[in-house]
Amino acid sequence: MDYSHFFNTALARLHEERRYRVFADLERIAGRFPHATWHSPKGPRNVVIWCSNDYLGMGQHPKVVGAMVETATRVGTGAGGTRNIAGTHHPLVQLEAELADLHGKQASLLFTSGYVSNQTGISTLAKLIPNCLILSDALNHNSMIEGVRQAGCERQIFRHNDVAHLKELLIAAGPDRPKLIACESLYSMDGDVAPLGKICDLAEKYGAMTYVDEVHAVGMYGPRGGGIAERDGVMHRIDVLEGTLAKAFGCLGGYIAGSAAMIDAVRSYAPGFIFTTALPPAICSAATAAIRHLKTSSWERERHQDRAARTKAILNAAGLPVMSSDTHIVPLFVGDPEKCKRASDMLLEEHGIYIQPINYPTVAKGTERLRITPSPYHEDGLIDALAEALLQVWERLGLPLRNKQLAAE
Ligand code: PLP
Repeated sequence: MDYSHFFNTALARLHEERRYRVFADLERIAGRFPHATWHSPKGPRNVVIWCSNDYLGMGQHPKVVGAMVETATRVGTGAGGTRNIAGTHHPLVQLEAELADLHGKQASLLFTSGYVSNQTGISTLAKLIPNCLILSDALNHNSMIEGVRQAGCERQIFRHNDVAHLKELLIAAGPDRPKLIACESLYSMDGDVAPLGKICDLAEKYGAMTYVDEVHAVGMYGPRGGGIAERDGVMHRIDVLEGTLAKAFGCLGGYIAGSAAMIDAVRSYAPGFIFTTALPPAICSAATAAIRHLKTSSWERERHQDRAARTKAILNAAGLPVMSSDTHIVPLFVGDPEKCKRASDMLLEEHGIYIQPINYPTVAKGTERLRITPSPYHEDGLIDALAEALLQVWERLGLPLRNKQLAAE
């Protein structure tokens, strides 16, 4: 049997559909965010990263790096096994307390990634609720979709951020049926925000539980970095808050936070928690340092918003097709997978600017884009250079510009 034939056929299919992915070989330079070395086929080159989800540059913050090095030096590297086998190490206990406090909840539970926390968190919760109906936003992340699928219970999809549709489904389900509403607070490809207050109103009125993914908001929104729910004053009304340590907190890992009973039940039943090695102590200490810092420092959040607003303004004024976004995400519409990839390659090779192309299945076909994520450390000069490079690329690829006059208005 020629097994490699199966793999080659699968890869050929991706090439044919024009969505085969290539990753650049990058090495970030600590203390010089967003600068990095690109190990290109022609040798190392300096580049500027414009698409990192280390949104606030905390992955290079001296307090965070210091905590990681100090803990690794003191206690070593790995966790030594699953928590069922090897027990719970102290930095993990401290991190869970920090996260519960961040979200104003009784408890939190850590997983090895945000992906795992959604996948095993949603599926375990729904399995523990007899006859549960999951109501899931149409644009939920793949990790949530997998969690819903693995729950094995009935699910219904409501139109993206459409509270009227959600209400219809809640009414149709009836008051006696247990219901779990699952959505994100900030959708990372379009940069739009869920109407969390209205979703909480509906959940309370129709007796549903709420599960909100704050992966693209924790650290960045709310007075202490608790996310959109904190910013909107509804954190206490949401039953389960899920987040990552891998984006604004600059580390790795995911978590859910909520009532002590809910967390204890997930801890006791979730396969994605029970059967996998815990996060290493050094990662936990680093994440705790990042969360603590962002609870009291607003500089990063304010500067982040300022840089995102400036980037949008400069690109808009240049006539570039910035898609409207209420948040720090700056999506630039391309609408063609090949041109999107070409634009990304040209930016990297000719201008030393790294922006990954975003193609199907991450976004719908025909809505391919460059997803730009300015950080607090993208200075004015870098933003200007980005606009100039994009204009050159747009012209070379024959991509349409918006009427500059209109864009400036
Ligand atoms: N939830 C959303 C909305 C995401 O975009 C992602 C990943 O980018 C995840 C969850 C998974 O988080 P992590 O990268 O920590 O696995």
